[in-house]
Amino acid sequence: MLLEQQKSAAGAVVGRFAPTPSGFLHLGNVFCSLLAWLYAKSSGGRIILRIEDLDPQRCTRLKADQLARDLEWLGLTWDEGAYVSANSELYFQSQRSEIYAAYFEQLETRELVYPCFCSRSELHAAEAPHLSDGRIIYAGTCRELTPEQRQAKAQKRVPAYRLKVEDVPISFCDGHYGSQSYNLAEESGDFIVRRSDGVFAYQLAVTIDDALMGITQVVRGCDLLSSTPMQLYIYRLLGFTPPSFCHIPLLVDATGRRLSKRDGDLEIASLRKAYGSPEPIIGLLAYLAGQIEKPEPLRVDDLLPIFNSHNISTTNIIVPSELIRLQ
Ligand code: GLU
Repeated sequence: MLLEQQKSAAGAVVGRFAPTPSGFLHLGNVFCSLLAWLYAKSSGGRIILRIEDLDPQRCTRLKADQLARDLEWLGLTWDEGAYVSANSELYFQSQRSEIYAAYFEQLETRELVYPCFCSRSELHAAEAPHLSDGRIIYAGTCRELTPEQRQAKAQKRVPAYRLKVEDVPISFCDGHYGSQSYNLAEESGDFIVRRSDGVFAYQLAVTIDDALMGITQVVRGCDLLSSTPMQLYIYRLLGFTPPSFCHIPLLVDATGRRLSKRDGDLEIASLRKAYGSPEPIIGLLAYLAGQIEKPEPLRVDDLLPIFNSHNISTTNIIVPSELIRLQ
């Protein structure tokens, strides 16, 4: 298959919404989408909507449809991508496997990926190196298997595929958190680019997509800060020019727990019913993002002339429960 070329990065900012439709849109996702929108639009840029439905077990088209409707209702519109472009289907990751496969093969031919037969329990074993946050550093167990060993193991287990990393620092300047440096050999080890069920991993898919879709600015939650060096490494291996990265703090509850899809209450569908219009929700998020002094109803366009990224906190942001009206 002919490899698609990266779109020219010259010209205006191209940002993106990249939601995973494994649940319904909630306040935390919207916070991130609002900021991605403001970053791009305040500099005259465009937004692409890409649906990250790689995992067929967790993601459904129904949830993606609802998610798009909720974004639109909030005024967070996009210029290109799922639901609007002529080739709209190609903005769903579930429809892009052939594209990922072509790049995966390229990495395989260059012997940069190898099959890993380790079971979950082997990876999580007490002696496996862990980082303080519980993430596992892959010890390289399957990296040097001989072809015969691989063949024997393949009789018993379908492998995942890992990308060999180098023992060198990867540095970048995050638009919000400043200068960062990671050594993948110390902080992740060789990481998975294709799962044993054949699904391509997030790190590979998102990098290929951002490059081919001509994304020049990635704005996303700071939980993905440590994914960025993995993606930058893939950019380098595949010869793509990386976008700028800007990570933003997460919304958390009073106990510091991240708002997530489990908090059904904060789904936009519930808030939509409670508030009836998007303005109070946008106003609340603008307040949490440090853009206005107190929550007041606003439309996204009202924020464009006043948007100042320096006013966004760098620590996670507590959503006071009294500010959420559910009934
Ligand atoms: N799909 C991811 C999410 O919904 C975001 C990935 C990204 O922004 O790179 O959390």
